[in-house]
Amino acid sequence: MGRGRHPADQRRRRGHPPRRARRRPLRARRRVLAAARRRRRLGRPVRRPWHRDRTLRPANVGLRVDWTDTFVDRFPGTPLKHVALTARGHDGPPSRGDAMLTRTGIEGGPVYALGVPVRDALDADGRCTLLVDLRPDLTADQLTERLRTRRPKDTRSSWLRRTLGLDPASLALMWEATAGALPDDPAATAALVKAVPVTITGTMPIDRAISTAGGITWSQVDEHLMLRALPGTFVAGEMLDWEAPTGGYLLQASFSTGVVAARGMLAWLGPDA
Ligand SMILES: Cc1cc2nc3c(=O)[nH]c(=O)nc-3n(C[C@H](O)[C@H](O)[C@H](O)COP(=O)(O)OP(=O)(O)OC[C@H]3O[C@@H](n4cnc5c(N)ncnc54)[C@H](O)[C@@H]3O)c2cc1C
Repeated sequence: MGRGRHPADQRRRRGHPPRRARRRPLRARRRVLAAARRRRRLGRPVRRPWHRDRTLRPANVGLRVDWTDTFVDRFPGTPLKHVALTARGHDGPPSRGDAMLTRTGIEGGPVYALGVPVRDALDADGRCTLLVDLRPDLTADQLTERLRTRRPKDTRSSWLRRTLGLDPASLALMWEATAGALPDDPAATAALVKAVPVTITGTMPIDRAISTAGGITWSQVDEHLMLRALPGTFVAGEMLDWEAPTGGYLLQASFSTGVVAARGMLAWLGPDA
């Protein structure tokens, strides 16, 4: 069809608004539902009137930090390389790797790995403190020893850069955390380098998340992932209530539950299917 001859173009020329595609409800004898997300602006989520689920929440997602204007102007898109993160009050192992500073907060593998304790702290207190170890391969004592070699003409920044090899983003993070009042004492400075406190005020929204937590609980499905309340309808992937770290686990769990649901449906339909 030539340009301008499409019915939608003719309607527009006559001043009529474009016709909306009519949405037809999905009709099928059996269904596998795997449309967990309310994200990427793909329209409304699949309606799930047959059950009450655990609310979907963002998982493997960036965290919000109220950076100062100076920080926001200089460091978004800059990585904090080879750091180790912990959530204050959570005694799990530190999460190591590169974290990315953004205009609105911090993200990346080691940040996502702390999703559960951070979410618990945010639920309980509305805030959470992330502790950033900028030199995880050195102990506080080793850092203190290096920091003792301060030259008379060293500024604080050049002292930290020269003795510990800290980059500008790491130094700026320390300035942010102390509102510009960096300690002078080697031991206190070493303690700060080992645990720079960053206040987390929330998570990024679900449409920015890599995955979701919550969904249809395991008690609502049978061993073939068929909804107990709606026989013949099977669910898979992130519609189910599980969560996992990135690195292939999410895809693997989605594929695996998809296979279980598909096999369950074939069994349900019987040999004549
Ligand atoms: C940027 C990014 C990187 C990722 N990297 C990794 C990784 O490296 N390793 C890993 O394991 N996992 C990764 N994941 C996560 C992984 O992609 C998901 O866990 C997995 O795809 C979930 O599968 P799913 O089938 O449950 O949901 P989805 O893959 O989200 O599929 C849901 C489908 O439902 C459709 N849909 C939604 N709403 C409706 C509607 N109303 N009507 C009809 N259809 C609808 C959507 O179009 C979509 O096709 C990543 C995710 C993102 C966003």
